[in-house]
Amino acid sequence: MMPTRSCVHPVGRALGPLLLAVGLAAPLGGRALAAPPSAAAWSYQGATGPARWADLSPGFAACRTGQRQSPIDIRTVQPIPYEPLQPRYRSQPLDAVNDGRGVNVLIQPGSELRVGDLSYNLTALHFHVPGETLINGVAAAAEIHLVHLDRDGRHAVVVVPIQPGPHPNSALVRIAERLPLRAGERVNYRQLGINALLLFPPDRGYYRYTGSFANPPCSEPVTWFILAAPVELAPELIGRIARATGGNARPAQPLNGRPVFVSLPH
Ligand SMILES: [Zn+2]
Repeated sequence: MMPTRSCVHPVGRALGPLLLAVGLAAPLGGRALAAPPSAAAWSYQGATGPARWADLSPGFAACRTGQRQSPIDIRTVQPIPYEPLQPRYRSQPLDAVNDGRGVNVLIQPGSELRVGDLSYNLTALHFHVPGETLINGVAAAAEIHLVHLDRDGRHAVVVVPIQPGPHPNSALVRIAERLPLRAGERVNYRQLGINALLLFPPDRGYYRYTGSFANPPCSEPVTWFILAAPVELAPELIGRIARATGGNARPAQPLNGRPVFVSLPH
């Protein structure tokens, strides 16, 4: 693809083929643990919802004044040469906590994402229902967010869309079946191996833009990599993730002239 011309393309979501995940199943050994209550007062509904985040704390001002906020509605894109996302993630036990605003899979140190010359550490994995990123105004049924941090304090989020379909991603099934449903609940399956690498679809083309954290304090900048192809999951398990997260998508934010790039492996 020629990088010299900045042309604008309409975009659409591709349906990726099934990811043949390698099984890491182990006998179930989960147990519920108590999680500490969250001190922050923001939420996704009502008086502490997204429209009011900036009013809740001076530290949340960027949620209103930021000019590069996330998520966005992607409608036109500029092609750039393919620069592959290279996740080098480690397997670890499934350890997840429901904080009342969503479900976080706790990440052990040592998982790395390389993109070109950049190298990030994977720090967090969580879910949004519905998906936060819009493509031509349409959200995925759900999204996985893989949050990364590099040595210089720069953040990057990789988004894996989840759509209902007949070819479920087996690593995602393993996690979704066990997510803690109640606020404050934590599960720790020491015998159950997971690897976030297996949550990627085989087609790793992506959209890239500069945004923010999509929740308070809404800090900028954050580099977003949004995979164009989804992974599939049975509707029942998407419903289970929805019960765990309770609906946690921030509305799309103004683009303010930011370019959105598309990087495809062909
Ligand atoms: Zn997120």
